[in-house]
Amino acid sequence: MIPYGRQDVTQADIDAVTAVLRSDFLTQGPQVPRFEASVAGYCGVRHALAVNSATSALHIACLALGLGTGDWLWTTPITFVATANCARYCGAEVDFIDIDPRTFNISVDALRLKLESAAVAGRLPKIVIPVHMAGQSCDMRAIYKLAQRFGFRVIEDASHAIGGRYLDEPVGSCRYSDITVFSFHPVKIITTAEGGVALTNDAKLAQRMALLRSHGITRDPVEMKQIPDGGWYYEQIDLGFNYRMTELQAALGLSQMERLDKYVARRHALARRYDYMLANLPVQVPYRADYAYSAFHLYVIRIGGAGGADRNKLFDFLRHRGIGVNIHYIPVHTQPYYAKLGERVGYHTASFPQASAYYTEAISLPLYATLSDKEQDEVAGALRKALA
Ligand SMILES: *Cc1c(COP(=O)(O)O)cnc(C)c1O
Repeated sequence: MIPYGRQDVTQADIDAVTAVLRSDFLTQGPQVPRFEASVAGYCGVRHALAVNSATSALHIACLALGLGTGDWLWTTPITFVATANCARYCGAEVDFIDIDPRTFNISVDALRLKLESAAVAGRLPKIVIPVHMAGQSCDMRAIYKLAQRFGFRVIEDASHAIGGRYLDEPVGSCRYSDITVFSFHPVKIITTAEGGVALTNDAKLAQRMALLRSHGITRDPVEMKQIPDGGWYYEQIDLGFNYRMTELQAALGLSQMERLDKYVARRHALARRYDYMLANLPVQVPYRADYAYSAFHLYVIRIGGAGGADRNKLFDFLRHRGIGVNIHYIPVHTQPYYAKLGERVGYHTASFPQASAYYTEAISLPLYATLSDKEQDEVAGALRKALA
């Protein structure tokens, strides 16, 4: 089976992780700060907080921005469920904005319209989470302008997008957002097995997220409420979690960072080959926005539409031939958990027609840095046979 995505682990990665196993620290040692400095330096952002998953990063990001009961968080339905779940962990309500049918990112026009009516109804969101679908940045400058006009905060879910760029700056610079989150799950661009990071230029948000990832405990006398009892003293000043990344994960991530640009370049080369090989098939290949350089986490094509091929049949045909295609994503608002909330909040299955249409037509083809030209030819050949 050719999977839709997979990690690349080299001997250098294995050596880096093995060295940590032989060292004094398996957790809370020097590797995590080094990994954080590496990611922050790459992105040109002041603070990086490494955690055990992007899901955890989203959770502490929402808490740091003060999301709580009675607040609203808006995001796109075309994302992984974790993007919405972080709001529910905080007791907040979730609502969705339809997508742009070309980029599959949140539609800025739909966002503006919904904000205008929410302002009238007194139901504006506290946080909006744009997701850089497939690795291509949303139009962050436009979203940031809306944030200033309507007074919401912005978390970029850039789980797909490390190594990507927006308006000639790295995704993760937080130039147009409060916090940006990356995921290092093995299918993403680089991996730490499980892992994630939250990035920000705001020292207060960074301090708050650092506290929340480690039980709400501080060892900094400046932050303490009481006089330290002695050298052993620490204080729990808030309710936090154990969301820490291990030294093993950070060493793996640090080693992977060295190949990040190479990985993204290879993904682009493969994407161009797909474009070329699919050129005369009835499929819509990924649209490239002029403001973005995608990290190309996914190569999503759309088929069908009126009179077009049947996506579900295509999926089965390719899977039976060992081509690990996948669907990204089942619209979150149709998941039973969110459908039930929608009855109260006011959205329903048909509320986001672009997302629904996308879901019936989209299919992700295998794309990862170590996918060979030969394997890719096999994918394109099977696709050609299916659509002939
Ligand atoms: C992978 C992913 C997440 C969750 O990442 P984890 O590191 O597995 O918690 C969140 N959002 C999006 C868009 C993702 O693709």
